[in-house]
Amino acid sequence: MVINMEIREKVDVCIVGAGHAGCEAALACARLGLETVIFTVSVDSIALMPCNPNVGGSSKGHLVRELDALGGEMGKNIDKTFIQSKMLNVSKGPAVHSLRAQADKAEYSRSMRKVLENQDHLTIKQAEVCELLWEEIEDSEKKATKKIKGLKTFTGAIYECKAVVLCTGTYLKARCLCGEAITYTGPNGLQAANHLTDSLLSMGIEIQRFKTGTPARMDRRSIDFSKMEEQFGDERVIPFSFSTNPEDVQIDQVSCYLTYTNEKTHEIIRNNLDRSPIYAGIIEGTGPRYCPSIEDKVVKFADKERHQVFIEPEGLHTNEMYVGGMSSSLPEDVQLAMYRTVPGLENCKIVRNAYAIEYDCINPKQLYPTLGFKDIEGLYSGGQFNGSSGYEEAAAQGLIAGINAAQFIFGKEELVLDRSEAYIGVLIDDLVTKDNFEPYRMMTSRAEYRLLLRQDNADLRLREKGYQVGLISKEQYDDVIRKKSLIEKEVKRLKNTKIGAAKSNQEFLESHNSSTLKTGTCLAELLCRPELSYDILKELDPEREVLPDDVIEQVEIEIKYEGYIERQLRQVEQFKKMEKKKIPVDLNYDDVPSLRLEARQKLKSFHPVSVGQASRISGVSPADISVLLVYLEQYKRNVENKE
Ligand SMILES: Cc1cc2nc3c(=O)[nH]c(=O)nc-3n(C[C@H](O)[C@H](O)[C@H](O)COP(=O)(O)OP(=O)(O)OC[C@H]3O[C@@H](n4cnc5c(N)ncnc54)[C@H](O)[C@@H]3O)c2cc1C
Repeated sequence: MVINMEIREKVDVCIVGAGHAGCEAALACARLGLETVIFTVSVDSIALMPCNPNVGGSSKGHLVRELDALGGEMGKNIDKTFIQSKMLNVSKGPAVHSLRAQADKAEYSRSMRKVLENQDHLTIKQAEVCELLWEEIEDSEKKATKKIKGLKTFTGAIYECKAVVLCTGTYLKARCLCGEAITYTGPNGLQAANHLTDSLLSMGIEIQRFKTGTPARMDRRSIDFSKMEEQFGDERVIPFSFSTNPEDVQIDQVSCYLTYTNEKTHEIIRNNLDRSPIYAGIIEGTGPRYCPSIEDKVVKFADKERHQVFIEPEGLHTNEMYVGGMSSSLPEDVQLAMYRTVPGLENCKIVRNAYAIEYDCINPKQLYPTLGFKDIEGLYSGGQFNGSSGYEEAAAQGLIAGINAAQFIFGKEELVLDRSEAYIGVLIDDLVTKDNFEPYRMMTSRAEYRLLLRQDNADLRLREKGYQVGLISKEQYDDVIRKKSLIEKEVKRLKNTKIGAAKSNQEFLESHNSSTLKTGTCLAELLCRPELSYDILKELDPEREVLPDDVIEQVEIEIKYEGYIERQLRQVEQFKKMEKKKIPVDLNYDDVPSLRLEARQKLKSFHPVSVGQASRISGVSPADISVLLVYLEQYKRNVENKE
């Protein structure tokens, strides 16, 4: 029931949601000078972390670094509020090195709220958005049939605007399940948003139902840590943000703890599966395969004797501990019994029960790679609402959606990052091109060019794009140009610095268990040897200038992985050729002869923007792509002949 009260505001852009996606979208629009309003059902839940108390991790750390390079906020915010930090996968190659930091959740939210509250051109509004306002349009360049005009809140206030970014997360028609107990709330008992879905459906937007789950929170005083393996942070912390001074993040860190489930845990779960809303079929939504509940793990990996459980502090000023690896929707009594079988949790006290949450979100194939709706001009979306899962995935999409809502208003070209430029490009392309039947979680294995898309070179890859859209300052841009030229100069110098087979050099090599030289070589050649590093080679290179650590890191990677990098660059060239082959928005696939039926149907429903994107749609074969390429050549000639 909506009360009609004539409050009418005129602004440039409205952001629905102040979660990880909404915050980035709103800051991007306001920082580009647009009058922006951000809506949330509760201002006390800005940038809330309803699940794991950490930012980053495998591939997610890459997203945060890329977002930071483009001018986003999450990297800076976690550098200010982390309580433990670790670089993961350091025993493997640089492509999978990933930063992960434990956050003080309350501080993270408070700090992000402060940034929003002090941002010019940005207004925070606690209100439930119930309806989008729009008009029919014809002859849209993009073949859209509708145009956004504004939105309406539960109290009847109207906000006229030129663009709307939807970042509603896990709140739309949310319901939380803990065994037989069901509450119609958002996460942490916050108010759900129950009205907007109907408005979206009336605009012809396709909605689907997803679910995710979270583990219980325990009182740390009831945990026996002596039965667990203590997990420490890195001695030298590396910041997420390229703007953070590394000296500012060398803090006293807290510990996490590792323990395991066992056969007793698994037996309790197996014996009570009939009371699990997932296995009793009460839950309708589809859950994330790569963040499975403990019930799913016990059923799907029945051969595993134990599963890892990470006990993580939720913050410095709370006793709440997060039980990572044991999310569940089993009833409270079963939860208590199962948790108390875990070594160290025998006397645990549950502060918050584990639960599953179901919510409405969209099928993202309705979006362009700009995250704009194909059929509705001025409407963009980001985050869990687009069918992804995770703070980092949400923030990355929120930034792109915010930038493109601004570009749309400015009438400028919208930003699309492709799969060879960024994990963000892989994330968005997978969402809008592939069939996603469950919440999408980023992984390094999804990025075919991951040796080029490392978290350590995100600034070299993306600062320029951030500068072009106006979120990166000239000074920051000049810094990265300077860095690039230092790297280039040093790589060249190492390749041109000859090292002879002199006795002292031979002894040096032997002292580092490195094979001696038969003939002269160069420093770069020596640096390719796994047992030798840039630092070790300083003895043979007294003339070298002192270079910043981040430049040395790039020089070492470029030289040690040169062959692999060149091979991947050649693959990217092929990839870009297909991406550049644009498909006209008004192309009628019924006119393309000898296209297989399945491919014709898929292409008509997806409307890919390029042949490259078409080739990634499941059900479209290489043969179909060849047919399409031939037709597009003909189509182009016909258009040219008409002109
Ligand atoms: C119980 C639970 C378990 C999770 N488990 C995992 C996990 O295991 N792994 C993982 O990667 N991620 C998990 N997540 C997901 C993670 O929390 C989200 O990915 C992330 O928070 C999404 O960010 P977002 O910005 O898209 O949305 P959210 O953080 O959900 O924020 C949505 C925002 O929209 C606002 N809002 C919504 N509708 C309206 C409206 N109509 N009007 C006004 N404001 C509105 C809300 O107030 C809120 O500010 C879990 C989330 C929950 C709730």
